[in-house]
Amino acid sequence: MMAGNTSGMRIVLLGPPGAGKGTQAKKLVDALGIPHVSTGDMFRRMVALGGDLGVRIQAIIGSGHLVPDAETCEVVETFLTRESLWDRFMLDGFPRTVPQAETFDSMLSKRGKRLDAVVAIDLSEQNVLARLGGRKSCPKCGSVYHDVSLPPKMAGLCDRDGARLTVREDDQPEKILERLRVYVRQTQPLLDYYERAGSVRRVDGTADAGEVSARILAALRDGQND
Ligand code: AMP
Repeated sequence: MMAGNTSGMRIVLLGPPGAGKGTQAKKLVDALGIPHVSTGDMFRRMVALGGDLGVRIQAIIGSGHLVPDAETCEVVETFLTRESLWDRFMLDGFPRTVPQAETFDSMLSKRGKRLDAVVAIDLSEQNVLARLGGRKSCPKCGSVYHDVSLPPKMAGLCDRDGARLTVREDDQPEKILERLRVYVRQTQPLLDYYERAGSVRRVDGTADAGEVSARILAALRDGQND
């Protein structure tokens, strides 16, 4: 990666559910000017569009399981191609499994490209449960709040549009445990995969969002001469 040049960055953000990947991706997009690409958001948009596909995806997401690898990779490849984003992306929530990472690597190398950095936000299981336990979302605009760390100005209502906040189906307590189990089983080996490639920058996620994004930016800067 070229020192001081952040315009052509290909970054993957990893971390357990609740580690603040979405929040961090948005902050880093502002700081680095590269687009945030979230597979979770893509799938939620597909659900909102309805139809057979939407209903099927909704059932998978609602159960806390993962959308099949082939389908997920196809959605990502189509999106990055359509939006001309092969040179600059902050991927949040993808890859989630080793087969997805392998497929993604071959999609990149087919285009003569490679990842610049994999940022892994570390968070203990105890912290994951505490964070996701209080999470509320706006069903209208998708804004995310937290009972303790990020409460809305008016209890239970979205700051942006006043809609009544809800607990996302996959943030219900039993679903949180299932997502964590899925993460440990499928995403942990992904860290090993990227560790072997030597591209992982680990960042401690147990701080407020501003501090964590400062740590991530520092980790990306430290690796600029890799
Ligand atoms: P997220 O908002 O990233 O937590 O994603 C919400 C849900 O979308 C996940 O629990 C999965 O069901 C699905 N999903 C998101 N990204 C992926 C992926 N890379 N592979 C498979 N399923 C995914």
